[in-house]
Amino acid sequence: MPAIKESAVSDPTSGKPASGSASHYIQTVAVQPELDIAPGFDSFSPATHRGSTVVFRNLAELRAYGDRGTTYWRYGLHATPTSEALCQHLALLEGARHTLLLPSGLAAISLVYFALLKSGDDVLVPDNVYGPNRDHGEWLARDFGVTVRYYDPMIGGGIAGMIRANTRLIWMESPGSVTMEVPDSEAIVAAAKARGVLTAIDNTWSAGLYFRPFDMGIDISVQALTKYQSGGSDVLMGAVLTRDDAVQARLKRARMLMGWGVSADDCHLVLRSLPSLPVRLAAHDRAAREVAEWLHQRPEVVRVLHPALPDCPGHANWRRDFTGASGLFAIIMHERYSQEQVDAFVEALRLFAIGWSWGGAHSLAVPYHVPTMRPAGSWPPAGWQHAGELVRLYIGLEDTRDLIADLRQAMEQVLKG
Ligand SMILES: *Cc1c(COP(=O)(O)O)cnc(C)c1O
Repeated sequence: MPAIKESAVSDPTSGKPASGSASHYIQTVAVQPELDIAPGFDSFSPATHRGSTVVFRNLAELRAYGDRGTTYWRYGLHATPTSEALCQHLALLEGARHTLLLPSGLAAISLVYFALLKSGDDVLVPDNVYGPNRDHGEWLARDFGVTVRYYDPMIGGGIAGMIRANTRLIWMESPGSVTMEVPDSEAIVAAAKARGVLTAIDNTWSAGLYFRPFDMGIDISVQALTKYQSGGSDVLMGAVLTRDDAVQARLKRARMLMGWGVSADDCHLVLRSLPSLPVRLAAHDRAAREVAEWLHQRPEVVRVLHPALPDCPGHANWRRDFTGASGLFAIIMHERYSQEQVDAFVEALRLFAIGWSWGGAHSLAVPYHVPTMRPAGSWPPAGWQHAGELVRLYIGLEDTRDLIADLRQAMEQVLKG
């Protein structure tokens, strides 16, 4: 059998291209094309810079890290012009000086814990905190030698009596998850400051627009950008914001060592949604108050836990501290309805989807059995006698006339009698 001649194996990379870089072979041109893109293009959208490798012009640049304007950029994981645009935009909206981006809202919470606490430290957490934040605290307590104690979200200045010599951090959430109590942030911050304890707030509900944590003296704000900032129910991202340079240095170092970064494409998606954030939030606010007030009139509902309504524990704190409300609230159903009936009511809704992560255009409903969620015993609030089930509602951007008609049909179908 004749041997296959070498020339019979065609190698598309063996030649030089007819035009362009005549001095390099095709495989080199494939990697390093000498492109000639005309300058002067500008648009409203910041460029989406995908990049793991940051390229330096010489070694002096590579070695002189930290000097803004020359070698500010270091590594794609830490920052790109796209992530930096999002960081600055978020800081401007919430009144912070620094922003760090994380792969989710929960990662933002986690960063605060790991950056600021070490074995032997103590942290205070509200009893109505976002569920995975509670789970996180329990993990730290079990495996990392941190003591985690839960306080009644309505404790106010009474928090002073819980602060110990080794208390390093007080978490707040306003309003708290699911049950919507609005804490007396002013009193909690005053007590923390008197003892030199850092404060962090999960400020996701107001998207950083209706509650100004840094003006209140809170050190750190956490945002689940997954919610309103994304607005599309299609991105997961979180942020930790602060005004304090020393706190930022600790947070930034921990983020780097954890190896947490975000993709430029996801940053781009959130950046697209920020210009409409204030008008979207105002629309959610208007619609949610309308639906909440309709629900308040219904005999099936005993309480509407919406911070802008007087039924909500901490309503006076909301009036003092907030400039608006958002689209998420809860209702307590009459105690004559069983858990199964309330589940059937939620399933009878047609426009409200069943799902957790809110902040997008679609309305949502989820039932909760609260007593099992509050091990520190702060539920029900003092003076309440109800035993009814809770339904959390998120009001999206549908027409409220249709949403109210949907709630009515589900009540009439399932809760009659
Ligand atoms: C959704 C949510 C988070 C977590 O955000 P993810 O991006 O889903 O991890 C944290 N805090 C609050 C109050 C939330 O509603």
